[in-house]
Amino acid sequence: MKTIDDFNFKDKKALIRVDFNVPLNDSLEVTDVTRIEAAKPTILKILEDGGSAILMSHLGRPKDHEPEFSLKNITGTISEIIGVQVKFAEDCVGPKAEQAAADLEAGEILLLENLRYHDAETDGDEDFSKQLANLGDIYVNDAFGTAHRAHASTTIVAQFFPEKKCFGYLLAKEIESIDKVLNDNEKPVLAILGGAKVSSKITVIENVLDKVDDLIIGGGMAYTFIKAQGGKVGSSICEDDKLELALDILKQAKEKNVNVHLPVDVVAADSFSEFANTKVEPINAIPDGWQGLDAGPKSLENFKSVVLRSKTILWNGPLGVFEMKPFANGTIELGNFIDEATQKGAFSLVGGGDSVAAVKQFGFEDKVSYVSTGGGAMLEMLEGKELPGIAAIQN
Ligand code: AMP
Repeated sequence: MKTIDDFNFKDKKALIRVDFNVPLNDSLEVTDVTRIEAAKPTILKILEDGGSAILMSHLGRPKDHEPEFSLKNITGTISEIIGVQVKFAEDCVGPKAEQAAADLEAGEILLLENLRYHDAETDGDEDFSKQLANLGDIYVNDAFGTAHRAHASTTIVAQFFPEKKCFGYLLAKEIESIDKVLNDNEKPVLAILGGAKVSSKITVIENVLDKVDDLIIGGGMAYTFIKAQGGKVGSSICEDDKLELALDILKQAKEKNVNVHLPVDVVAADSFSEFANTKVEPINAIPDGWQGLDAGPKSLENFKSVVLRSKTILWNGPLGVFEMKPFANGTIELGNFIDEATQKGAFSLVGGGDSVAAVKQFGFEDKVSYVSTGGGAMLEMLEGKELPGIAAIQN
């Protein structure tokens, strides 16, 4: 795996794909700078080598050059975080970009305008990719969040740098961490899959069955498994067209000697609301009109012992509707168990979909070994897919 440590950037212009698709408020201020902070080590290494950095990113999904999607809005924030005044080019290709890139000197940073102001970016257009490529000497991909897209700046551009392309620190770390969980792991290996639906995680479940010793299935998707086995789930979220599939997954798990752990009890509510009445019920005997919205105390006790005996832990998806306070306890407790296991030496990785939101909300970011920055990209890696942005560097 080639990373920026394999290159000396002295007097070189690094063309870096970063993921600065940050959330903005109505006043166009950045409300979460995580992604900018995450790209900082890569940018600094290049500047410290004596090179310059040309940053390219998308922001949102502009349709018609709407000004609120201009990366100019975040130039100040980037300058503050990196500690260097960032220059801005009002287009990512064409004369303005070319001139700004040509004028760039060692130690300087140039931010290009939103790539997605051109449809050619998401189309993966070759000519557009070549124009981007002409701006820099070495291509660095440090954007994990878009590594699953075969877009111009994430994938196609790499072909114009046959020998001079590499991963930035962030993307390299993502690839290493997931490899550590899925392939280069210490046993016993545990995957915890929660979240709303089985249907969005089928391929993940099937892929991890070949890799893990234990599988905890929690959150909304547990109910499909319980109903498939004849349980009564009341009005809990349940995919009736996936009952056969759930049974098949359980059968596959048995054949592969994977221990599946489902919740045994739940916090049931009489409506999908923060103000609902609640009671703890066995998960396979939820009364009509009630729905399970969080894992119950016995389930958590069981999950705790599985987590604490694991040496490698992958966590994707909450155990309950954590956005509502009365149903956040299971997810918080699970985070505490993983924290304890990590302190005892386990490697723990959290990521994919919305999991990161829960981890951040409850302050577990620094307690697990690694939090992945890419939602969709992480899910695709967990599905065992080759990501185009990663393959483009490796090939
Ligand atoms: P995902 O993006 O698939 O990881 O799903 C995350 C969502 O699943 C969160 O918004 C949770 O509120 C939701 N969720 C978790 N448990 C349940 C449940 N028992 N019933 C309904 N939704 C749930």
